[in-house]
Amino acid sequence: MAFNSADINSFRDIWVFCEQREGKLVNTDFELISEGRKLADERGSKLVGILLGHEVSEIAKELGGYGADKVIVCDHPELEFYTTDAYAKVLCDVVMEEKPEVILIGATNIGRDLGPRCAARLHTGLTADCTHLDIDMKKYVEFLSTSSTLDISSMTFPMEDTNLKMTRPAFGGHLMATIICPRFRPCMSTVRPGVMKKAEFSQEMAEACQVVTRHVTLTDEDLKSKVINIVKETKKIVDLIGAEIIVSVGRGISKDVQGGIALAEKLADAFGNGVVGGSRAVIDSGWLPADHQVGQTGKTVHPKVYVALGISGAIQHKAGMQDSELIIAVNKDETAPIFDCADYGITGDLFKIVPMMIEAIKEGKNA
Ligand SMILES: Cc1cc2nc3c(=O)[nH]c(=O)nc-3n(C[C@H](O)[C@H](O)[C@H](O)COP(=O)(O)OP(=O)(O)OC[C@H]3O[C@@H](n4cnc5c(N)ncnc54)[C@H](O)[C@@H]3O)c2cc1C
Repeated sequence: MAFNSADINSFRDIWVFCEQREGKLVNTDFELISEGRKLADERGSKLVGILLGHEVSEIAKELGGYGADKVIVCDHPELEFYTTDAYAKVLCDVVMEEKPEVILIGATNIGRDLGPRCAARLHTGLTADCTHLDIDMKKYVEFLSTSSTLDISSMTFPMEDTNLKMTRPAFGGHLMATIICPRFRPCMSTVRPGVMKKAEFSQEMAEACQVVTRHVTLTDEDLKSKVINIVKETKKIVDLIGAEIIVSVGRGISKDVQGGIALAEKLADAFGNGVVGGSRAVIDSGWLPADHQVGQTGKTVHPKVYVALGISGAIQHKAGMQDSELIIAVNKDETAPIFDCADYGITGDLFKIVPMMIEAIKEGKNA
């Protein structure tokens, strides 16, 4: 029977597109599988990872360790490196046959390219850059009651609703919008790396995970582009998402930019293996490269310690760091919004405060 995205009752299971690069899974896969597990439990359905590549079946079981019941591996030499044509063709073919109800895709460069193309081909909707997902209406109402300013006591909700509720920032981060795709399936969503929390790995679950390899057909007509060569950028890129300590600087360093960045580096070193991030004001001014940006249009981070130096705490900056385990803010303006989400706030000139912090950490370590 022909694929019909409007026949919504014939779709089941939660799928996660699992990206691999050079035969290695990326961190976003584990975050999305962990989130997908939660959604599959809410829906009472299976969680399936879909992995495209060449000779990658042996890495599939690791996805089970984070919650996948099953992984479908599509193996073909043309899938070794990502190309839009090959990946979109294969993913759409499998989706049309298996009919998953939900597909989650990491909002990486690959995911942002692949997701919309597949959604258009499958004639369904896609919500990009989601930061929160629910299926169970009770859980969604709980989320609204704890994270929104809505008076939910005066609202009624269709408690039986099983659509995927996809929440994302809208209007430059000033509003959060929840979007549903009620008339078509699969419900597709891209999720920014670093937003969803990775579950604990379970060896037992990894061993129990079923891995199924599917036959893939790709003809020359399907492939309009070919990867000839991959040239890697030699520049060292800062790993903000994986960092446990981040010291970020804002426009507050403007009176001595190099001195401010050097102080942030020293503080990050004093904590031990910290990295330096920045607000968009710092990136836009060219004081730090773009890969250092934290926030809505930068990286979403949740390190153990996040230090904000001379950052006002605009909503778009907070969107990327407010889930950090411990937040320390230094700002000369005691009314700066960054203090609203800080666990420790220090009012004063960062150029005076930070050297004192470095000394205090050193003394603490020596003691
Ligand atoms: C669509 C959109 C997306 C955006 N995305 C992002 C994003 O991803 N990330 C992001 O950061 N922003 C983002 N922004 C920009 C955001 O709105 C703010 O403009 C930006 O975060 C401000 O950066 P800042 O806090 O460094 O600078 P400012 O707001 O200018 O704040 C500087 C702070 O430094 C303090 N200060 C000054 N001197 C000192 C000193 N000597 N010691 C201590 N404190 C001092 C001041 O009191 C002030 O609070 C976005 C905006 C839009 C519209």
